[in-house]
Amino acid sequence: MGKALQKEDRITLTIEDMSTNGEGIGKVDGYTLFVKDAIIGDVIEAKVIKTKKSYGYARLMQVITPSKDRIQPACPVAKQCGGCQIQEMDYQAQLQFKEELVRNNLARIGGITSYEMQPIIGMDEPFHYRNKAQYPVGLDKDGNIVMGFYAGRTHHIIDQMDCLLGNSQNKNILAIIKTYMQENHIPPYNEQTQTGLVRHILIRDGYHTGEIMVCIVINGKRLKNEAQLVERLRQIEGMTSIQVNVNQKDTNVILGTENRTLWGMDSITDYIGDIKYQISPLSFFQVNPRQTEKLYGKALEYAGLTGKETVWDMYCGIGTISLFLAKQAKKVYGVEIVPQAIADAKENAKRNGIDNAEFFVGKAEEVVPQFYEQLKEKAQTGDIEAQEGTHPDVVVVDPPRKGCEESLLATIVAMAPKRMVYVSCDSATLSRDLKYMQAHGYQVEKVQPVDQFGHTYHVESCVLLCRTDS
Ligand code: SAH
Repeated sequence: MGKALQKEDRITLTIEDMSTNGEGIGKVDGYTLFVKDAIIGDVIEAKVIKTKKSYGYARLMQVITPSKDRIQPACPVAKQCGGCQIQEMDYQAQLQFKEELVRNNLARIGGITSYEMQPIIGMDEPFHYRNKAQYPVGLDKDGNIVMGFYAGRTHHIIDQMDCLLGNSQNKNILAIIKTYMQENHIPPYNEQTQTGLVRHILIRDGYHTGEIMVCIVINGKRLKNEAQLVERLRQIEGMTSIQVNVNQKDTNVILGTENRTLWGMDSITDYIGDIKYQISPLSFFQVNPRQTEKLYGKALEYAGLTGKETVWDMYCGIGTISLFLAKQAKKVYGVEIVPQAIADAKENAKRNGIDNAEFFVGKAEEVVPQFYEQLKEKAQTGDIEAQEGTHPDVVVVDPPRKGCEESLLATIVAMAPKRMVYVSCDSATLSRDLKYMQAHGYQVEKVQPVDQFGHTYHVESCVLLCRTDS
């Protein structure tokens, strides 16, 4: 290796790879550098900003020769904003990058190479896909109200009311609120001094229903001249619900627990497939309903249901997958750690006339082993439903980024379902967990990556595993 690199050094770098966070990766004399906003194929000039023993970070100063996949980002603040990481990459190339990422992690972390990789499912329209946006509100250095997004890793607000990932109505809604705040001298909240009133604007919309909800998060109980604000916001096409949310805590958590409806309904509705959901400001709901439908459609296909099966859905959230499966299964059990999500899941089941889904609150790695032991005892007394519960036909998991606890995987192995469907938002932990399952009698058959979050480094995957002796 040549002379060690120092902070501030200027270098020329060819980007040969990209990290799981979407940073470009290049090498100088064998030393690896990560560079934000650089993509595979770029030749760049960069400035070293941090060095560690075996790798470092550099800042992109100038693109010398652009990659064939480099494009002009559609958003003027794509580089500063923390929301998108790879908008400067052509969408088809983004999809290839994501598919490769899944393939590489499966091989490198999981040692998994023989399976059917189904081509990544991209979006037909990779903009305006999000049904939820949360805009922080603040003041710029000249004292003007700004609404937009945090810059990467900071709480500096970038003034951008027209985010291209969200609903194109959002900018009109924000403009109304900004004017109203100016006219009524309503100050934005200041995180440092914990003074001021308006903290965030939350906007949600129903993709299938066109319904819109606006929720103004305030450090107080009331807004001045609420009737004037309502009158103006009501003019927006699709407006269904106008609310305030009270958050008077010194916290990074956006929403408080108290909502008050100023006008219209307390919630909006939307569909995933033919299942109807009620969405309140605090409810969890998938943010890209079109792609979620495709992802969960794949999970349903992999589950291979005929109507006779018993299914477990672990990490079930508000029961989106459970209810999707329940229509074609005999019985579905859902497990989820957040009590409110389980309350929503039960409510959603009722609303859709689904009576063969049962939900449990708790950590999957605790609830499932306990429930399995209880069912096993019952099963020994000849209880058929208990027998079917201990030996489900299909187990579905959809864990958060950290993946499944090994103890849960061990219980799944003991339950010995014929098929397991693993829905994952992190292909690294997915690969680790699949490696465990492959070592314990399961074979990875099919992998389907799905792009739920265009222009970011995130990629979802749906995986089918089958028991090797079945
Ligand atoms: N399929 C769900 C979303 C899954 S996201 C839906 O579409 O609604 C992952 C879920 O796992 C979240 O709802 C989270 O609250 C839950 N979770 C996180 N850790 C958990 C654990 N240890 N046990 C059970 N659920 C957990």
